[in-house]
Amino acid sequence: MRPIKAEISLGAMAHNLRVARAHAHGARVFAVVKANAYGHGLSRARRAFTAADGFAVLTLEEAANLRLMGVEQPIMLLEGLFGADEIATCAELDLWPVLHQAAQLDWLERAPPARPLQVFLKFDSGMHRLGMPLAGHAAIVARVRGMAGVAGITLMTHFAQADEAAGVDWQLRPFLDVADRYGLPWSGANSAALLRHPQACGAWVRPGLMLYGASPFADASADALGLKPAMTLKSEIIGVQNLRAGEGVGYGQLFRAERPMRVGVVACGYADGYPRHAPTGTPVAVGGGASRTLGRVSMDMLCVDLDGLPDAGIGAPVELWGAHVPVEAVATAAATVSYELLCALAPRVQVEEVE
Ligand SMILES: *Cc1c(COP(=O)(O)O)cnc(C)c1O
Repeated sequence: MRPIKAEISLGAMAHNLRVARAHAHGARVFAVVKANAYGHGLSRARRAFTAADGFAVLTLEEAANLRLMGVEQPIMLLEGLFGADEIATCAELDLWPVLHQAAQLDWLERAPPARPLQVFLKFDSGMHRLGMPLAGHAAIVARVRGMAGVAGITLMTHFAQADEAAGVDWQLRPFLDVADRYGLPWSGANSAALLRHPQACGAWVRPGLMLYGASPFADASADALGLKPAMTLKSEIIGVQNLRAGEGVGYGQLFRAERPMRVGVVACGYADGYPRHAPTGTPVAVGGGASRTLGRVSMDMLCVDLDGLPDAGIGAPVELWGAHVPVEAVATAAATVSYELLCALAPRVQVEEVE
């Protein structure tokens, strides 16, 4: 069998949820499990996060699957209704949609469900992605409060720079100016806001990335935040090449040996979810030792430097990311973020659940 696999630790995920709760200042915690739980599997997330106060997903299908798995906690639909035809299922499954634009209010007004919904009313406080303008708050809140199809309202916003020096206050201040007038519960924080900006927690927090053990910050490691990486992508060396000085490796011959050296060929490529843009020098662990990738990543293989690792030959274990090689470090080398790498784990990679 091809030796690549992803080990996913439910224990690490449960631990990370406890870290989130410890930072939440009493707010209830929605575990964000969109995108197949950031690549970790919806069913695993359901089992690892039984202590969550709720789950947040993107689609009705994900929400329905969670209900089928026996989830009884509230389930939030992060982008709410994509059409009026989704209202009935929301009521049936007790899903809590976000209302972020006027058309969604129209749908609910025209066809109120028999059982009124808990909703999140989302305001744009400066990110300018989803959300209704804060300036229109009076008319919007009054309208939603008067809807027969709405049982309760939580105000909501989302931060654009919670992970950066600019922080959240430039958005939180105008948002709370409005929210404080209504005495309604509110929800603001994603992982970065939860970890660094306690004032942004409100009644419900929405951590995603941190639950999977990755740091949202460029200047703080997961370890420093007390998080445990939940996913380890590992494989083995399936070929060894002895290069002479001047010889190149792989497509495009992007890496050339300056002196004689040993190169290991690893059973992992971009069709497994490893980023093709990872350049020479991207960190990797071989047989427990630190190494680096060489040359271009191909579909099913990549090459690593075996200089200084004389014992590493065919069958040597390779960690592409995990406890020894932070997924954030691979992401940074490949000019992307850990979110993208975790979500992109390919279906062809076998998953093994570990404690
Ligand atoms: C994905 C998402 C989150 C989770 O963000 P992380 O950075 O992964 O913690 C929170 N809120 C909303 C609206 C989201 O779409």
